[in-house]
Amino acid sequence: MQDALLDERNGIDKIDEESKARKKAWRVAHAEELKVYFALYAMTHKEKIIARRQLYYRAHKDELLRKQQIRYKAHKEKVLLQQREYRRQHKESVAAYQRIYRQEHKEELQEQHRLWREANKEKKAVHDKAYALAHPEASKAAQKRYRKSHPEQGKQRSQRRRARKLNAPLVDLTRAQWEEIKSAYNFRCVYCHAKPKRLTQDHITPLFHGGSHTVSNIVPACMACNQKKGTGSPRVPIQPLLLTIAEPMEGSA
Ligand SMILES: [Zn+2]
Repeated sequence: MQDALLDERNGIDKIDEESKARKKAWRVAHAEELKVYFALYAMTHKEKIIARRQLYYRAHKDELLRKQQIRYKAHKEKVLLQQREYRRQHKESVAAYQRIYRQEHKEELQEQHRLWREANKEKKAVHDKAYALAHPEASKAAQKRYRKSHPEQGKQRSQRRRARKLNAPLVDLTRAQWEEIKSAYNFRCVYCHAKPKRLTQDHITPLFHGGSHTVSNIVPACMACNQKKGTGSPRVPIQPLLLTIAEPMEGSA
């Protein structure tokens, strides 16, 4: 019984092999006609073909990705070259695709970039320096744009620079601390109690007189009061608030 079954199966296999060979021979004999036929079909059924490929891709995604990875590892150079060539030949469609992708994955990409920057701080610093050297004009323009969009940070930096120049004993005020100081004074000028759009950092003991650029020596003042005061003593006595919630800057003095 067993043997008869095996024989039967082998017979089917044999028929299969024969029909396969016949089909192949037919395809070889009609190769040119088939080429034309498939080309015509591809032209007239574009959407259908794309839809079918998408369906196939979705159903076999993991498998295809794995195959792709294996191929990439084995033929890295060749794959990269092909990809470059594809991008060169399809510049516009690739750009359009990338634009849509960036829009649809904006937050995800921003988070990825932030994580990358955090993990590659030194690498990024080296890269930025090299870029600045190679593109001085573009780099200057980018810095200018950044300063313009982050005016507070620029002011903090220039205040620190000024304090260091005047050999202030301590230069450790952070932006967070400055925000706390302003909020502790209810965003009002300590002299005239106005609530201006922008508060300036006023040193209780002026930097000129050996004061520090540190949380206990700074009060908020409106521009007018800050300028009027010059380097004299405050017109209204003030108690410096000792704020300790925000940490001072690391490694500064
Ligand atoms: Zn004022």
